[in-house]
Amino acid sequence: MSTHIYETVILGSGCAGLAAAIYAARANLKPIVLEGHEPGGQLSMTTLVENFPGWPEGIQGPQLIENMKQQAARFGAEFRLAHLASADLQKRPFALNLGKETLHARTLIIASGASARWLGLPSEKALIGHGVSSCATCDGFFFSGKEIAVIGGGDSAMEEAIFLTRFASKVTLIHRREHFRASKIMMERVLAHEKIRVLTNMTVEEVLGIEQKEVTGLKLRNVANQKTSVLPVSAMFLGIGHVPNAKMFADQIDLDDDGYVRTRDNVFTRVPGVYACGDVQDRRYRQAITAAGSGCMAALEVEKFLEEHGR
Ligand code: NAP
Repeated sequence: MSTHIYETVILGSGCAGLAAAIYAARANLKPIVLEGHEPGGQLSMTTLVENFPGWPEGIQGPQLIENMKQQAARFGAEFRLAHLASADLQKRPFALNLGKETLHARTLIIASGASARWLGLPSEKALIGHGVSSCATCDGFFFSGKEIAVIGGGDSAMEEAIFLTRFASKVTLIHRREHFRASKIMMERVLAHEKIRVLTNMTVEEVLGIEQKEVTGLKLRNVANQKTSVLPVSAMFLGIGHVPNAKMFADQIDLDDDGYVRTRDNVFTRVPGVYACGDVQDRRYRQAITAAGSGCMAALEVEKFLEEHGR
């Protein structure tokens, strides 16, 4: 068991975790970043980011993440391809169990983000990786020349639908309501796209193709008249939002009803020395820039905490 005590451990390597790492490393705290199940977080699975200040032409999400990582590494941040199995935040220093080893840390920054939400259908689960996907940039290529369905009514679904037109012969966007959450600009792009068709008031009852071991279509229900129909497609991409990755802290810090970490004054959890930033605690804004901003705040609070408690 390692006896080293880290000044701070950062959980997660998305925008929030990396911004925290840049600030903590620059403050000479020698942070270690546990990269988690999805290194780079949601931005690593996206395409062009058009609204991150400082990039007038936009920047590819994975490139933005790589830049931030290099920036943190330049100041001495350490990166580890590991994820947290469990944590003991009652002890001081905190004990962070990575499975094969336990790290000890005086402070912890929880930047574990949020993961894709699924519909929860057994047929969906059975066909993940066989035409069911939550990552258009990862899997879109496999469906060149095919018809694809995208589920959701927010910006993620719009972005996926537009991106998938690069490969698909046709994209059908399916939303469960009449009204969309997506921003006006994204919605307009979707509606104007010749390859995209929009179906509203429709839910997916079943993903078809279990016997063939590949998606062959979707059984849809029209929620207005309850009629069912079959839409032949080769793939279904989910764009229905995300769930926060905070379950492992459920009995140690406060989570809200949907599992987001409850914070006060932006990044404080109820355990002194434990801070949360980015999508794991932000149900309202969920933007790359706000995640980075809260990562910065968490690192500044860590610095202050360590100063007050003697480094
Ligand atoms: P979101 O805004 O929460 O939208 C999720 C969508 O999925 C909603 O339309 C919701 O339907 C639908 N949905 C949820 N659960 C469902 C289910 N079980 N079955 C069917 N549909 C379901 O999430 P998001 O699109 O991931 O966006 C999250 C945030 O990131 C937003 O603030 C967004 O602006 C931002 N974002 C921005 C960009 C960009 O600017 N380029 C790109 C991606 C994301 P209801 O509407 O009926 O609830």
